[in-house]
This record gives sequence, structure tokens and C-alpha cells, in this order.
Amino acid sequence: MQADAISSYAKQKRDGFPLLRFNANLEQEFRSWYKNRNLKLIQVASLGSMIIFFAFVGLDILTLPESVLMWSLPIRLGIVCPTFFMLFLVARNQPRYEKLLTPLSAFSVIASGGGTVGVLFVAHSHGIPLPYEGLIILITYPYFFTALLFPLACIGGVSVLVMYVGVEYLLGMPSMQLVYQASFLLTMNVIGIVGCYVFEHVMRDNFLTSQMLTEFAQKDPLTELFNRRAFSDNYHRIWRQAVRDKVPLAIILADVDYFKNYNDLYGHVQGDDCLREVAKVMSHAVNRPFDMVARYGGEEFVILCFDARKNFAEELSENIRRGVFHMNSSHEGSDVADRVTITLGGIVAVPEANCLPNEFIRLADEALYRAKEAGRNQVAFAENKVDEDGALKVSLAVNESASV
Ligand code: GH3
Ligand code: MG
Ligand code: MG
Repeated sequence: MQADAISSYAKQKRDGFPLLRFNANLEQEFRSWYKNRNLKLIQVASLGSMIIFFAFVGLDILTLPESVLMWSLPIRLGIVCPTFFMLFLVARNQPRYEKLLTPLSAFSVIASGGGTVGVLFVAHSHGIPLPYEGLIILITYPYFFTALLFPLACIGGVSVLVMYVGVEYLLGMPSMQLVYQASFLLTMNVIGIVGCYVFEHVMRDNFLTSQMLTEFAQKDPLTELFNRRAFSDNYHRIWRQAVRDKVPLAIILADVDYFKNYNDLYGHVQGDDCLREVAKVMSHAVNRPFDMVARYGGEEFVILCFDARKNFAEELSENIRRGVFHMNSSHEGSDVADRVTITLGGIVAVPEANCLPNEFIRLADEALYRAKEAGRNQVAFAENKVDEDGALKVSLAVNESASV
């Protein structure tokens, strides 16, 4: 989890997306965002459509003869209405039925369009001039009310046109009349295609903008690492998951040694450059997908590792310490070396439900303090055991790491 990886939103916005497609990673993210954004729309539209189809059942009973009713009622009540109701239930119960939402949305287009064309077919084959205009309204459904992505919405809308023209052609409708009716349905499809394209383009743009704002709010402008607020949000989420899954978490605090002296000697601007260099070493070292490195404040950094063993966390800390040492940035104001160094303190433990997230940080901070006391440019980890009553018992051991 790297802060600089999230600028892909800005890159995508700059490159544009005339074909309504993002690069592979963003596309997946957008699709799930888009689905969630439109859940209410799908619920209202599916319920509304079901009510409209019910109303048409009433109209059918009042106007159609038995020979047509025996087909129209099962189509409307047996296929179309249940499909809309199922779609409503699936949209209401997300993310439980996540995989069903798109296929069922697409099926609802085919069921409502195909069902209506079927009713027209039966009526017209019995010589009853049931109007086809309902199809014009129906074509708006896939484009504006399903939240299907553009290609699927187009296939849905055009398939209603094709089904209708095919059926009337088979029934021998005069070609002049067929051309007129097909033209109206085609025009409605063109309106749908343009509207749906514009709508999805705006939604994609909104997605990129909102993600960019989120990343802007999460980023530390100096080091481009995550800032403390982003760390805190993520930490509490990861904490809850670690408690649930009973997996160990590692928290490592890192602090640049004698940095006040560095600023006094070399100036604030060079101090900033130094912090950027240290940040680079840290983000290079922290490279598992769910691990996070953030600027905790000033010249302090924090690393959060999910499902980390103690060996791993110690090795990671030692690599960072060594990496900063080998930056070889001279620091004449340091009492521990001739160059910039860093001290790290951490804790690795399975968090218990009765242990507070801030307690973990306090213990890592205590380890850092001990390592500072023991001479800086080194790594210390809290030695912790969990009591029978679940309380975290901690004693500290400072590693005697070589200063190379
Ligand atoms: P120790 O080894 O005990 O950590 O000593 P220290 O001097 O590093 O610690 P102290 O807390 O006394 O000083 C931290 C310094 O970090 C003080 C402040 O000027 C500097 N600092 C904090 N934020 C920034 C920043 O954004 N840029 C620069 N250049 N300096 C910063
Ligand atoms: Mg400090
Ligand atoms: Mg310091």
C-alpha cells in the first residue's frame, strides 16, 4: 500500500477515457464503485417497473380477449414481474448477492423487452392491434435505469428493437409501416445511446475526481507518503480485522536521530530533502500490498504490517535502519554517527478485543524511547505476552544491532 501508487486516478483523468474504459486496476475499482452508487436507482427502477407491469395486467384484463390473455398474463405475471422483484431483492441485499446483480439486470431487460414483444406477437397474430408504442418507453430502461455499463445497455436497447422488427416481419407487417415503427424505435435507441454515453462519462469523471480528492486528503505533501489521518483511518480498520481474524499486527515507529541539530546546521530546506530521502528508503522497504508506511509527524514515521511475524518486522526495521545509514548523508551534528541515522521501535502481537489500538502505539513508542536511550541508530521491539485474562504483558528488549 503505497501513497504514490494512487496517483493513477490523476493519470487516467489526464489521458482521458473516450472509449469508457480505464486501465485494468482502475476499471475493477470503478465498476464496484458504480454498482454501489446506483443500488438505490436499481431498487426504485425495478420496483417501479414491476408496479407498471402490474398496472398493464389490469389493462389487459379489461381490454384483451381470452385467447391473448392466456399468453399475456403468464408472461407479465410469471416472467416479467418476478424478474423485477428478484432484481429489487438482489439490489437490496448487496454485497451478499454481488455476482447476481449485473446478470439479473441484463436479464430484466431481455425479460421485459422480450416479454412485451411476445405479448404484441400474440395480440397481432390474433388480429388485435395492440399498440407498439410501449416499446419506445421500454427502451429507456436499459439505458437509464439499470446502471448497466454502456456496451451492455446498448445490447439491451438494440435487442428490443431487433426482436420487435423480427416478430412483425414474420407476421407480415407491411414494409412501409415496419420501416416507420423501426425508425421510431431506432431513434429512441440513438437517444438512449447518447444519453447513456454522457451519463457514464460523467460518472467515470466523478469517480476519478472523488478518488483524487480522497488521495489528496490522505497524502503528506512533503514526503508523498500517507499522512497521519490516513494511517489512523486504516489502522483502526486493520485493527478490527486483526482482532476478528486473530492475526498478528506489527506497528513500527521510526524517528530520525538528532534531526533538530540537522536543521540547525544545514537549514530547513536541506532538512526537508533529507526527510524525502528517508521516506523513499521506507516506502522502498515496505512493499507487501497491505502494509502501510506513513508520516506520523515531523521527523517521525509509522509502519503498519498486517499478518506479520516478529522476525519479519525486525528484519524490515533493520533494513530501514541500514538503508538510512547507507544514504550516507553527512550529519555533523549527530552524536552517534558521521551521517543521518534513524531509530526504530516496534511491537508485534495479536490484538485482543479488550486491548485498545492506542495502547499498541504507546508500546511501540516505549520501544522507540528505549532504543533512543540505548544509543540511537538501532531497533527495539516490545517483548509481549498475552495473559490468561487477555491483557497484554510487555517487557522490552533492545537489540544490540551493529551500527553499519
Ligand atoms: P532525537 O534523536 O531524540 O529524535 O532528537 P531530534 O533532534 O531528532 O528530536 P526533536 O524532537 O528535538 O527534533 C525534531 C526536529 O524535527 C525539530 C524540527 O525542527 C524538525 N522537523 C519537524 N518537522 C520538520 C519538517 O517538516 N521539515 C524539517 N526540515 N524539519 C522538521
Ligand atoms: Mg521526534
Ligand atoms: Mg528525532
